[in-house]
Amino acid sequence: MTEPALNLDRKVDLKDLDLDALTAFLDGLGKERFRARQIFRWMYRQGVCDFAEMTDLSKDFRQELQARAYVSRLVPEKVEVSSDGTRKYLLRLADGQTVESVRIPMDEGRSTLCISTQVGCAMQCAFCLTGTFGLMRNLTPSEIVNQVCAAQADGPVNNIVLMGMGEPLHNLDNVVAALRIFYAEEGLNFSPRKVTLSTCGLVPEMAELGRRIRVNLAVSLNATTDEVRERLMPINRRYPLARLMAACREFPLQPRQRITFEYILIRDLNDSPADARRLVKLLHGVKAKVNLIAFNEHEGSDYRAPTEEAFEAFQSYLLQRNIVAIRRASKGADISAACGQLKGRLEKEE
Ligand code: SF4
Repeated sequence: MTEPALNLDRKVDLKDLDLDALTAFLDGLGKERFRARQIFRWMYRQGVCDFAEMTDLSKDFRQELQARAYVSRLVPEKVEVSSDGTRKYLLRLADGQTVESVRIPMDEGRSTLCISTQVGCAMQCAFCLTGTFGLMRNLTPSEIVNQVCAAQADGPVNNIVLMGMGEPLHNLDNVVAALRIFYAEEGLNFSPRKVTLSTCGLVPEMAELGRRIRVNLAVSLNATTDEVRERLMPINRRYPLARLMAACREFPLQPRQRITFEYILIRDLNDSPADARRLVKLLHGVKAKVNLIAFNEHEGSDYRAPTEEAFEAFQSYLLQRNIVAIRRASKGADISAACGQLKGRLEKEE
């Protein structure tokens, strides 16, 4: 069961509870099981936060809920719109901290929402601004789910990626509770095929995730030797490439599912033909696809974007070896939509 979030007035935020946990909570109040589904529909299908509006519950029941619980929501404090249509939402949490989520437009009017799972991040990847803040705290299930609810109020969301601020597997219990709410039919009703979780490679938690729930897995790889990966991603000291790749081979996949490997190409660091060759070897035996992203140079960064020739040569090598290798543009560059950057800028301005 999910632990309800600690709240000063000791009321439970019902959006912290997945369906089983809400059923147990209501059972404690002597209510029937189907009430949980009813309340889920109000919260997630109708977007209702006020018990008074849940008109198919008796007045007494609504008053009882009012006394013991509440339904949270997040309203964007700021929305930035990029020239390519990317929309970035800055959301202020109850304790004054902020998180962000980014809506990325896809083909045919569809959109993917990139959400955060922590305030800050403990992983300290060298190419990531969020990593420089350190970890402030984990997000609660409701704070994760409410990012999706807030974006849906601004237009439909077709896919969710847990790829914003934070390492999702460093907040596994709350992330699993949020995924359950995403998937619940009376909840946000997403297919697990539409949800992707990206990790820097926390090996034991990858296995636990695979045991607990279905989700597409993306692994932020970015290097083909331990030496370079350690420089870019300190987590590699704890879980070096051999262990990480073994965990990928063991991760449970559906018949047509693959693991996505994110690879940020950085000039003269990980973009050589030798890297491309090593990457093919690393991926041997893994049902994989590779997203190639050119490093997004920003103020104060030590690294540079690869040359166009190096990028193309790297991609062609993978394609020739029958590895799906897709070039991903860094969308929303003019509104600093790469993870953590809006928060970084706002805090500088403040
Ligand atoms: S890339 Fe992800 S895991 Fe690494 S520091 Fe940034 S937010 Fe954390």
